[in-house]
Amino acid sequence: MVKRRKVDASQLTALVAGTEGQVVSGGVRKTYDPAFPVFGTPINKDVLVYIPRTNVLTTENGEILKMLEFHAHDYTKGKQYGTIRCIHGLQNEIFDALGYDGTCPACEAMEGIWDLYNAKLDAACAKNGVNREDDNSETVKSFRSQFSREMDLKKADEYVVFPIVIIPFTGKFVPTEEALETLEPQYVCWKKKRYEECIASEFEALIDPPEHMGGTFMIWRYTYKVDAGKAPNARDSAKNAKFAIVTDAKLLSKYEYLVAKAEEVASPFTVEKAAEVIVAAEFLFKEDIEAEVQSIMKRTNTMLELMQVQEAAPTGAVQIAAGSSDVDNALSGFKIDTAKGDLGTEATPAGAGPVQFN
Ligand SMILES: [Zn+2]
Repeated sequence: MVKRRKVDASQLTALVAGTEGQVVSGGVRKTYDPAFPVFGTPINKDVLVYIPRTNVLTTENGEILKMLEFHAHDYTKGKQYGTIRCIHGLQNEIFDALGYDGTCPACEAMEGIWDLYNAKLDAACAKNGVNREDDNSETVKSFRSQFSREMDLKKADEYVVFPIVIIPFTGKFVPTEEALETLEPQYVCWKKKRYEECIASEFEALIDPPEHMGGTFMIWRYTYKVDAGKAPNARDSAKNAKFAIVTDAKLLSKYEYLVAKAEEVASPFTVEKAAEVIVAAEFLFKEDIEAEVQSIMKRTNTMLELMQVQEAAPTGAVQIAAGSSDVDNALSGFKIDTAKGDLGTEATPAGAGPVQFN
């Protein structure tokens, strides 16, 4: 994990405000505080969700629902997946204390990531006698998608965070008898694209859409038809998920008594709290980001060096076959030192692999 220095809570409002309009070139611990859990993909299960009004602001033009929005890089480090905030373009007196100067170590490291991608693609294409510029070649296409999947760091993407309250239910989405005492507030931290496609689009599709989603009930269906012989998993649950706003008056009347309590339990789940506890949104000191990025880039740099050695060497001098899995095999002799804990000791929980939503 990233070494953590805590930002003074009083600065958070200014820090969050400072990121507005940020422009980006373009086994996971998700929260630092167990009292503020982050929603994980339910595996083959439906959830009944209330979207609280915690971050609703009243403006001259009506109400708006504020969300924490930020840019972040997904990364892979050994068996660990994570997300680190992108700090590109964050530069003013508010960020001086954190050492931000407008550059982002992760954005800068993308050059090495692309170098390795290109080296792998060149080598694999040469070995298979295909032209990398041939956009119609299925071989080239499959190399491209394989090598981009293998990137240890991804370019920054937009994320959003908003609170929900999960309501325990039985049968046809009827709250359990203990629902009032067992409401579960959580943060949802998603790629913005997923939020727009799954949630925002549902509201836009309503005949008379509300000003914002605050105060509404939704059913998030993660159940799906599991292939025979396969265990249900998070990736397929997410891929098949369907989202619906509850508009049925009869059903809504069964939920009404929960609203006040749901608002109460969700009231600490503010935008500022999200910036404090959500790992992916965290404002790290720049030098800590640099150290983390260096450790993420270790494998990429080692592989790049090996490939360059191979290129420079006389034919046959270094036996590294082209193609990424071969390169991985060739690298097995160059074991990246896990004993030092460089790769993080946090095991990836079952089903916690990166679910890619794009
Ligand atoms: Zn960045």
